[in-house]
Amino acid sequence: MLPALRVVIEVPGERLECAFGGVMHRHGVREVELVDLAVFGRLARLVWRKQRWRCTGCGR
Ligand SMILES: [Zn+2]
Repeated sequence: MLPALRVVIEVPGERLECAFGGVMHRHGVREVELVDLAVFGRLARLVWRKQRWRCTGCGR
């Protein structure tokens, strides 16, 4: 049995804004494993790489 494929999704250029006008910086990436699929007859896992943001002003 072949190992499961990992299908990784990234959303580029997504930038959140702070409600208090602070400057946002990247705060690492969290991988969220969504579903097990069957693709091309193989087992595959859909992984969403979510960019996390942290505000330098208020820390949220
Ligand atoms: Zn802020």
